[in-house]
Amino acid sequence: MAGGDVAGGSAAGGSLCPADAPGAARRLTPGPTEEARGEKAARRGRPGGALKHESSSLALIATVRSRLGRQRDELTDPAALALWLARHEMPPADRPDPTHVREFRALREAAYRLLEGVTEGRAARTGDVELVNRFAAAPPPPVLLETGPDGVLRRGTCPPTPDQALGLVARDLVELLTGPDRDRLHQCEAEVCGTFFVDTSRAGRRRWCSSATCGNRARVAAHRGRTGHQ
Ligand SMILES: [Zn+2]
Repeated sequence: MAGGDVAGGSAAGGSLCPADAPGAARRLTPGPTEEARGEKAARRGRPGGALKHESSSLALIATVRSRLGRQRDELTDPAALALWLARHEMPPADRPDPTHVREFRALREAAYRLLEGVTEGRAARTGDVELVNRFAAAPPPPVLLETGPDGVLRRGTCPPTPDQALGLVARDLVELLTGPDRDRLHQCEAEVCGTFFVDTSRAGRRRWCSSATCGNRARVAAHRGRTGHQ
């Protein structure tokens, strides 16, 4: 049952997700190849392959690698979008199509400009605000009452359609731009990265999106600079 797949339990009382209804689209689960790609990506510490961002909108922005250098877009096609959604706890109920890819990319670029505006003290563009609001208006996926393996009732969620997933990310962005994390938003200081992150450190002096990637590269570059090695 689809809801049980998402939450790891079983739906109580016979509740069905729309995807379980007769004639509804088959729930999409990553195949072995996609899973392997995801695991490989996770080992490399790529945002598309690991849950290193708590915010889905920040994770979406990070699907453009080296944004301030030689950009590489990880959302290349519907399969890549489906994999990204699955890796970020939104396994889609239906297979995304090329329109969904364009919409997620549009939301991503609006999110980037809005975060730039917040961190640099500039006013938001009306078009970006309208685009976020249009996507955020999508109804959320249905919630379910589920019974866990321990018999305790808990809250589950139906797998989102791609439009509902777009709405989830847009709402995450609204919360990010208006909630308590807004004052902790920073852009990674690595030369070409451009990713934003929420600095949850006590001192508030975090410089990189990831200490393991951008931070490590900066330390290696600084060491080379000191020792004169290329
Ligand atoms: Zn970075």
